[in-house]
Amino acid sequence: MTTQEKQNSSVMGTYGRFPVVLEKGAGDTCTDEQGKSYIDFGSGIGTSSLGYCNDAWADAVCTQARKLQHTSNLYYTKVQADYAENLCKATGYSKVFFCNSGAESNECAIKLARKYSFDKYGKGRHNIVTLVNSFHGRTMCTLSATGQEVFHNYFFPFVEGFRYAEANNIDDLKSKIDDTVCAVMMEYVQGEGGVNALDKAFVDAVYEICAEKDILVIADEVQTGVGRTGTFLAGEQFGHKADVTTLAKGIAGGLPMGACLANEKCAEVLDKGSHGSTFGGNPVCCAAAEAVLETVTGEGFLEEVQKKGAYFREKLEAMEGVKSVSGLGLMIGIEIENKTALEAANEALEKGLLILTAKTKVRLLPPLTITYDEIDKGLAILADIIKQ
Ligand SMILES: *Cc1c(COP(=O)(O)O)cnc(C)c1O
Repeated sequence: MTTQEKQNSSVMGTYGRFPVVLEKGAGDTCTDEQGKSYIDFGSGIGTSSLGYCNDAWADAVCTQARKLQHTSNLYYTKVQADYAENLCKATGYSKVFFCNSGAESNECAIKLARKYSFDKYGKGRHNIVTLVNSFHGRTMCTLSATGQEVFHNYFFPFVEGFRYAEANNIDDLKSKIDDTVCAVMMEYVQGEGGVNALDKAFVDAVYEICAEKDILVIADEVQTGVGRTGTFLAGEQFGHKADVTTLAKGIAGGLPMGACLANEKCAEVLDKGSHGSTFGGNPVCCAAAEAVLETVTGEGFLEEVQKKGAYFREKLEAMEGVKSVSGLGLMIGIEIENKTALEAANEALEKGLLILTAKTKVRLLPPLTITYDEIDKGLAILADIIKQ
């Protein structure tokens, strides 16, 4: 049996996988079982933010794995204490809750918002406004929060208490807000929804309305966070800091980790016994995340991400067959003219380039450490595919 056959016969068929078996990677490229190599413009959906098997990252992971791989949250560990302090410092937040994925960090944010409101105002203020075309995860609650009808199927009944406002439509947002709402949750750049950045005016309106009514703003920065858009948090570029920010994907360079950050206003809401996670803040994941944090906050790193983002944009906008380019920093959406995004992704694979799709667009989330040489090589392959 081939690896593909074996995997298909034993793993539930929830994914549409590309027909390739990846075996190893280094830097910006990975290699399949036959030894064919691929430039990776997807970095595991934005998770391997320092590329494949970055030295500092791998050293941190291996050292911690040989020292203490896990202990539950019944005990303290220095690696979790250090990382929590550094993450709060880097983001300006008061406290963090650690979990293992984006969906879990959003679950935490939703629970936090509802309890914040319950503690202060009692029952009945549990509704949360999210945006149409958002994506917040695959658990029952985060699926319910996700503002896309295609996800609201099969699994009835969904979790109550979510309303969907149109992105960039201030009037629609206002019409969804009343005295039963405790939070507005949004992605500054909708990732899965098609790599669409929100308008600054809309984001301003969200913050203004929420401040008036003591409604929490939750920024889902699971995809945009930890340097992806050229600032540590994408919110910095909109001039706002949410009450609660959620992180995952690139936070630990390819190990499973999520974080829910809270500002001084709501840092004490989740108290003893109100939330938890067996693996949350696992020592190996914290060591990995610390290596990512140190790299991303290092001298000149984020400026370089911005420059590479601009470089990608400039090249893509001049490319034959490209209709439009969207996104922020190294989170890039491309509308193409001559074929579907999935066709482009399959042809790219054939030619040694891994790319992603988001709705009808080609989506790129290259490693933040990608070299200009690999950008040029990858874009040459992409240009060839989308011009025809
Ligand atoms: C990927 C993603 C999630 C879900 O993260 P998982 O780790 O798959 O649970 C949530 N929100 C956003 C914005 C995402 O991009």
